[in-house]
Amino acid sequence: MKRREFLKSSLVVSTSTLIGTNAFARTLQKAAEPFVFPQPVYRTLGRTGLKISIVSFGAMLTPEAEVLEVAFDHGVNYVDTARRYMGGRNEEIVGKALKGRRNRVYVATKIQPASIKKATIFRDVETSLKALETDYIDVIQLHNLTDNERIFSSEIREALVKLKEQGKVRFFGVTSHTNQVQVLNALMEDKDNFFDTALIGYNFKSGNDLKDAIARAAKKKIGIIAMKTQAGGYETDSMGSISPHRAALKWVLQDTNVAAAIPGMRNMSELKEDIGAMGLKLSYFDKLILKRYSAAISPFYCSFCGRCEPACPCGVEISTINRCVMYAEAYKSMDLSRTTYREIPQEVSARACLDCETCTARCVNGLDIPAKMARARKLLA
Ligand code: SF4
Ligand code: SF4
Repeated sequence: MKRREFLKSSLVVSTSTLIGTNAFARTLQKAAEPFVFPQPVYRTLGRTGLKISIVSFGAMLTPEAEVLEVAFDHGVNYVDTARRYMGGRNEEIVGKALKGRRNRVYVATKIQPASIKKATIFRDVETSLKALETDYIDVIQLHNLTDNERIFSSEIREALVKLKEQGKVRFFGVTSHTNQVQVLNALMEDKDNFFDTALIGYNFKSGNDLKDAIARAAKKKIGIIAMKTQAGGYETDSMGSISPHRAALKWVLQDTNVAAAIPGMRNMSELKEDIGAMGLKLSYFDKLILKRYSAAISPFYCSFCGRCEPACPCGVEISTINRCVMYAEAYKSMDLSRTTYREIPQEVSARACLDCETCTARCVNGLDIPAKMARARKLLA
């Protein structure tokens, strides 16, 4: 081996020993590539008054604290996680990234969807505080609402008020993927204005009914945060090397009724692509990209609207099951897919379709529902 080659190879060995995992090494390598971080842009999160970066951080699939740290060090100041992501480990990763930065980053997490009793809500919050290594949570959210039942639960409200009195949480929020207009309407109808924020699935495929509900909610000072902004982020052949993600994000951010979007950013490439959208306008070419992407994903894209569900005699949770399929196929996260699927009671899971002769549920977008349920069974049963 020539001296230069030897030096090069020994450098690689010693560097990887120092750096540790390959994933971590890739993170640092990507971080070191030239990139001009944009001037951050902030909007007010409804009645909370918090000024948050319009591109904030959805940490759900982020495996390394360093990706979060880079974002926080370049003006991203709101991070969304949940008790149940990565079996609780996601909050730990966020907690690690918050070290030395807690006073300049707002933290949102969620209690478990099944937690409706005081004791379980208190337990969830205590566990989150410990995992996040913090004394308080800025926004605590009820996870995955599909109707208004939990919004008006006095037991839940009493628990949240107690936590606020104890200084453990600052603001209350909800999250929803299904029946979102109904959920937003319930928040607006609430005379107590109890909930301050709503995390809503919203993207260029969303209908005007949701856009209008968001506008009305924002007017009532409910802080709107958008998730699922990239309609799954599917990789499709018809896009070639063009990525639709930044265009999709710009589409959401042009709606000033949205305080912030929280795209999931798994690595430095996704971070750069997403935070690079701050301050940019949706262009003519972005619209062309989204048109092509929309056509490419239409044959399999579910908006989780839930409109097909009332026609199913078994009450199958079609929209949630489709979301599990998306987590597996688009997000490539079997872990998240399985965790979400396990929360669906067996009798309303895709298994119920095995005993059903004719599907009476109809998709407003023309999706083949039995085929989607069969796909879920294949991936997850
Ligand atoms: S096949 Fe269709 S109607 Fe029958 S249980 Fe499944 S989703 Fe419901
Ligand atoms: S399958 Fe169709 S109707 Fe049902 S939730 Fe998805 S998009 Fe809506």
